[in-house]
Amino acid sequence: MIIDTHAHIDMEAFDEDRDDVVQRARESGVSYILDVGCDLESSRRAIELSERYPFIYATAGVHPHDTGDLDDAVYDELRALHAHPKVIAVGETGLDYFKNYSPQDQQRKHFRKQVELARELKKPLIIHSRDAADDIVSILSDYYPNSDGGSGIFHCFSGDQALADKALEMGFYISFAGPVTFKKSDALREVAKTIPADKLFAETDCPYLAPMPKRGKRNEPAYVNHTAQMLADIRGLKIEDVERAMALNFFELFGVGEAAQPGTVAYQIRDSLYLNLTQRCTNDCVFCTRISRPVVQGYNLALKREPTPDELWAAIDDVSKYKEIVFCGFGEPTLRLDAIKEVAKRIKQAGGRVRLNTNGHGNVIHQRNILPELQGLIDEVSISLNADTSEKYDEICKPWPKFRGTIYEEIKEFIRLAKEYIPTVQATIVTQQNGVDESKCEAVSKDELGINYRARRNNLVG
Ligand code: SF4
Repeated sequence: MIIDTHAHIDMEAFDEDRDDVVQRARESGVSYILDVGCDLESSRRAIELSERYPFIYATAGVHPHDTGDLDDAVYDELRALHAHPKVIAVGETGLDYFKNYSPQDQQRKHFRKQVELARELKKPLIIHSRDAADDIVSILSDYYPNSDGGSGIFHCFSGDQALADKALEMGFYISFAGPVTFKKSDALREVAKTIPADKLFAETDCPYLAPMPKRGKRNEPAYVNHTAQMLADIRGLKIEDVERAMALNFFELFGVGEAAQPGTVAYQIRDSLYLNLTQRCTNDCVFCTRISRPVVQGYNLALKREPTPDELWAAIDDVSKYKEIVFCGFGEPTLRLDAIKEVAKRIKQAGGRVRLNTNGHGNVIHQRNILPELQGLIDEVSISLNADTSEKYDEICKPWPKFRGTIYEEIKEFIRLAKEYIPTVQATIVTQQNGVDESKCEAVSKDELGINYRARRNNLVG
């Protein structure tokens, strides 16, 4: 089930076959369409569509192209349209200094007024930004000083990494359209890779900008799958993974759809099955959302209680279906060492491959070398190193007080020992942390400990 978060099927381009277009979208698995108004007229047409089709929602706003002779009286009419229960966002608004169809001072004035309208109505914004990043950020910063309470979508994102980072910092979502599938869009794809799953959307912006392989044709909501597939491909995921995450994002931003249910014990990402053993941890990393938002790729990992080994085993429907089974979750798995050993034994007997993702505290937690106990049960262990010094580790990972000052060296010792008992050992490093030198982490992993490492941005999980 995919969502087209930005369509204009109210436009004339669809007058001949609008019902067929909607039908094709449904047949392609499109669960919701957000039809975006660009002026009063199109906002009204979007509302009409939303009344006709339960799965279509509408926005009301004025596009920057149409702000040239805009009268302030328009805001009373927009307020009236926003009283409709299916109008869920303000926009499309923003700034377009590429086409400059309206004077820039008028664009800025009416962007600011629509941002204020969104704040007043407590609705998300749909933002159009083209060659106007500095002014967009400057205006939004006045109203969304941090990620708390910021809401809205940068639609058809075409900006650079700096704009994406700034938008995320202000709490906004980033939506990609057809251009991310175009051959020459390598730079845009690099940006798309860095957007956290909980801030990502796909859209068509139809009838414009059809994605590959439909480029050059009239675009329509059914084609959003091509954009979602590209987003999945460049992130090393399956399309179901990005669809699941985007459906949850749609619910969290607009209240439309379904919340992710807590209590997920086993969850599939790509061809791996992850087992969620615990939410407890001996760290409290500054970047970790295990308590505030324990969601990974649209799965809610909040646990009311920890699953028993029998429940974990039952949650693995068929070992042979997966490339690997991973003890992971939002917590430190080795706190449940006995459960790991029991379930891993059954997985190995069934012919499966087992990976353990750990913070490397296991030997300190259990006051013994646990690695011989895992020999033959775990094929690969991935250990979070996260820093190049003990001081930095304590600052970023905030280990239990009694672990501080010594745990970093203990993790390195855990890695050295792991190499004796586990066939594959690798370190992971969360990048973009203040003061962490990735090249020094690499040197610790490769030169000092003799293992490979994998880096991930601090806001990318799963
Ligand atoms: S070690 Fe992992 S689970 Fe524990 S706080 Fe850090 S990121 Fe979260």
